[in-house]
Amino acid sequence: MPADVSHIEQMVSVCRDARTILIATHVNPDGDAIGSSLALAETLEKLGKKVVLYDRDPVPYMFTFLPLADRFTSQVPENETFDLLLLLDCSELSRTGDVLTNFSGYRQLGCIDHHVTNDHFAQVNLIDAEASATAELIYEVVFRLDPDFSREVAVNIYTGIITDTGSFHYANSTPRSFEIAGKMVDRGVDPWMVAQQVYESEPASRLQLLGCVLQTLQIAPDGKAACVVVTREMYEQTGTNAEHTDRLVNYPRSIAGVEVAFLLRQEDEQSFKLSFRSRGKVDVASLAQEFGGGGHKNAAGCYLTGTAEDIIRLVFEKIARLLRDQDAETTPLAAGAVH
Ligand code: 5GP
Ligand code: MN
Repeated sequence: MPADVSHIEQMVSVCRDARTILIATHVNPDGDAIGSSLALAETLEKLGKKVVLYDRDPVPYMFTFLPLADRFTSQVPENETFDLLLLLDCSELSRTGDVLTNFSGYRQLGCIDHHVTNDHFAQVNLIDAEASATAELIYEVVFRLDPDFSREVAVNIYTGIITDTGSFHYANSTPRSFEIAGKMVDRGVDPWMVAQQVYESEPASRLQLLGCVLQTLQIAPDGKAACVVVTREMYEQTGTNAEHTDRLVNYPRSIAGVEVAFLLRQEDEQSFKLSFRSRGKVDVASLAQEFGGGGHKNAAGCYLTGTAEDIIRLVFEKIARLLRDQDAETTPLAAGAVH
């Protein structure tokens, strides 16, 4: 359901009324989570609000260039009650991690998000599953709060949009995403500067990790699903960590004929974070939701326990079944078969 102007106006007025605001986003933050939070924080501070920016995990290295990125804290201020706790890019409160989920120092809970699995859990919601990025919705709010917002705010919004659209490769890229990104360029954003920072400033160790990860490639017997695995041992061998796994899942998806790709990232001995990517036929948000996760139709995630081998077998079977069910629905002969 797209957000209408009344939802935007309501969020704007809630922001205007609050004096102290805690902005929080999801664990393992991405460019949209960080960019959206920073753009809104700068705008609210300009209006004289006291803002604290929280994330359980540090800002990934490719986003530390973003204006105000050093303002994030991983400590929730104790003994303080905020007028507003605003969750950005989070489809559920638990996506912020255990500490914030159990925090009660706020009077009102708001959420600005674009995940299809968001069930409007907050008191004030600005949710639009058709927005390519939360940053698109942040633009709507920021523009109304401060029409003269700075180039720094624009860089943050722009980065949120390009990272969540895969630099406008993905199906979520709409005329509105291009339009807002264009407006940000009008306000002084340099696309090549941002692209260099985000995509072309990798440590050599990431390429070594990529080499290890590609060797784990497995393709399902029907050729329609593929996966790769990242183990803690690989991190040790290459001097990398979870931050360096961003976008690695795109490699198995790039194979001709692959409809769904996934990456298993080892968290503990027998526990893995899964990242799903679909070419469009399979709704991976529903698939991830079956495993207790969530996300978007073409990009979603969840956590699973077990051995990598068992998880891969289970997920390959699930995907094969989903694809078979879909083929049966779309093939009239099969649907009407009498024997
Ligand atoms: P990624 O695979 O890049 O971690 O995440 C892809 C998308 O799925 C992102 O929009 C992310 O917010 C969402 N996502 C990833 N993991 C989870 C999860 O465990 N729970 C939920 N609800 N969403 C997730
Ligand atoms: Mn997002």
